[in-house]
Amino acid sequence: MSFLLLLWFMVAPSQAITPVRAKSYHHHDRYLRWVSRLPHEHNPDAYRQISEFHRDIAPWVASKPGVVRPFIVGRTVEKRSIWGFRISRPDREVHTRVLVFGGIHALEWISTETAAAFIEFLAEIPPDGVEVVVIPLLNVDGRVRVEADRKAGRNVYRRGNARQVDLNRDFEINREPKAIWRHIIPGYYAHSKAPLSQPESKALDRLLHERFDVAVSLHAFGGFIYVPWAGLWERTDDWKTFHRLGHIMSQAQGAHAYKVRQLSRWGFFFRAQGSELDHMYGKYGTKSFLIELTRSGLDPFRPNTWKEYFRWYNPIEPDRHVDKGVSALRALVYTISFEGRDVLDG
Ligand SMILES: [Zn+2]
Repeated sequence: MSFLLLLWFMVAPSQAITPVRAKSYHHHDRYLRWVSRLPHEHNPDAYRQISEFHRDIAPWVASKPGVVRPFIVGRTVEKRSIWGFRISRPDREVHTRVLVFGGIHALEWISTETAAAFIEFLAEIPPDGVEVVVIPLLNVDGRVRVEADRKAGRNVYRRGNARQVDLNRDFEINREPKAIWRHIIPGYYAHSKAPLSQPESKALDRLLHERFDVAVSLHAFGGFIYVPWAGLWERTDDWKTFHRLGHIMSQAQGAHAYKVRQLSRWGFFFRAQGSELDHMYGKYGTKSFLIELTRSGLDPFRPNTWKEYFRWYNPIEPDRHVDKGVSALRALVYTISFEGRDVLDG
């Protein structure tokens, strides 16, 4: 090795790392100030308000500044910050990067509960060799509306962002329906007017430029771990890897574990055009999963709640459902941490 090359190895990494760290610390203070200005409120049911779960995450950010690093992923239509959290061991080299996000659909609060719980778990035991980026809530504007509905006792069905666009039909890959059924039930295969038309989906796409090896999008309900494609009936070239990783997550859930399935094969007529699942895999090659948490929030013994849209997605007692989701995510991240990148290939 030449002297110059040796010198480059000694100097280059520190030059590369310093500005990134400085930037993260900036957001560290900014996040804590932002949380300190949030209203003090308490939701009477088991689901935390936006202010409440941030108040639970903030102590981890404050006490483990190099481990849990907040950053702003982007802004919503109404200019609210979309917060993300990078979690890793600062003393170890990162070989694999995993992205987890929830709250793409306004009513699916169980996904945000699960993502927030996962942040707290990772903060306590950060994985060796893996950086995990968690976004607990992507569709902040939609969620704010549901919080207001619940305070006012209104039962409103909400899925989209402030412009009522379904963010999960706003991505680039597999937008055009190919299923023969599209002629019979065309409304079923709808997508947004143009790809990445909304600031929330744009922000996620920008983050994906960083390149993640694996990504998990959390939704409700169904009790499935879905793999691409969502918009095509065909299998992917990586379907064996997808199923192996999917089963690692499923097996960690114990009794009544979620099933692993290709999303387009949920039903013979079903396709999702322009989904985040196909976008992350098709555009960036990220091994992407979509988990439909819970088998439904509806309780057969409480028919009085069947008309409540919120309950379709969010069971009255969320804890064991959150545990099931966190168990799957934990198994994915720690298997990669212990076994290395080999688990991601062939
Ligand atoms: Zn959803």
